[in-house]
Amino acid sequence: MRITLLGTGTSVGIPMIGCACLTCTSSDPRDRRTRTGLMIEHGDRRLIVDISADFRHQMLRERVNRIDALLITHCHADHVFGLDDIRPFNFQYGPLPVHASESTWRQLRKVFYYIFESRHIGGGLPQITPHTIDEPFEICGLWVTPFPVIHGKGEVTGFRFSDGVREVAFVTDCNIIPEQSLQQMLGLDLLIIDALRYKPHPTHLHMEQTLAYIDRLKPAQSLLTHIGHDINFADASRHLPDGVALAWDGLKIDLD
Ligand SMILES: [Zn+2]
Ligand SMILES: [Zn+2]
Ligand SMILES: [Zn+2]
Repeated sequence: MRITLLGTGTSVGIPMIGCACLTCTSSDPRDRRTRTGLMIEHGDRRLIVDISADFRHQMLRERVNRIDALLITHCHADHVFGLDDIRPFNFQYGPLPVHASESTWRQLRKVFYYIFESRHIGGGLPQITPHTIDEPFEICGLWVTPFPVIHGKGEVTGFRFSDGVREVAFVTDCNIIPEQSLQQMLGLDLLIIDALRYKPHPTHLHMEQTLAYIDRLKPAQSLLTHIGHDINFADASRHLPDGVALAWDGLKIDLD
């Protein structure tokens, strides 16, 4: 299994428009964060998790010429607004399987109404094959276990991926991880988890909370993502415990 951090930034992206803070003006490329997304490669199959408005740029940067499926954690703009940019893949390979929870589909059908209305024919619509997630399923040769996490008043889908040897979980956009979901996050080789900023936030984990979850779950390795501009790469990296690091755009982890 090979993991690529497609994007590691919070919803506004870093640098944030109009901001002159230390991180937004940093010359360290690891402080330049497109919106959060993940690619998992297994054999010759590629799975994408979340599709922000930066998806097109991320696919070009990583020179991706084919994807096999898309998983969506929740229907917030910074996780779905790149959906129309799957069309170049559709032109070559036809409809893309898209997996999301029932509540996420309810919102996706509103936001992307034009995809689902039969009177819109042709005209360059993204082509998808919708799948509703409610229990573990197999895709691209990986066993995927979905579990709910709390994101303010909403629910987000966290995912655990297994190739039978290595175990990875991706948990973005949440401020609380329910006890039952924590049980799905034990024994991990790699945890990729929300860490928005240092101060508490009503809908996201802040650094102290994220580190407390990591301390409890004890994954072999942890990467922090969905990072805002008050977390500066060089500064924050000096204070993180062993086995925990800030993710950055383009970071690749080979788990073989
Ligand atoms: Zn987000
Ligand atoms: Zn800033
Ligand atoms: Zn969100």
